[in-house]
Amino acid sequence: MKTAIHPDYKKAQVQCACGESFETGSVKQELRVEICSKCHPFFTGGQKMIDAGGRVDKFKKKYNL
Ligand SMILES: [Zn+2]
Repeated sequence: MKTAIHPDYKKAQVQCACGESFETGSVKQELRVEICSKCHPFFTGGQKMIDAGGRVDKFKKKYNL
């Protein structure tokens, strides 16, 4: 049996540009991303979208959310 075919898959520390960091699985030990679930506009911009007036409702209806 060959044992060295697959890269070593281990936990990696992901560092986002917003300062958020979290663990994930990766062959790399450290990852850097520019956006994550904490700072992505889809998550952080929720309140603004509601203020925009009706757009969120249209969006939800369009995608059956
Ligand atoms: Zn982030």
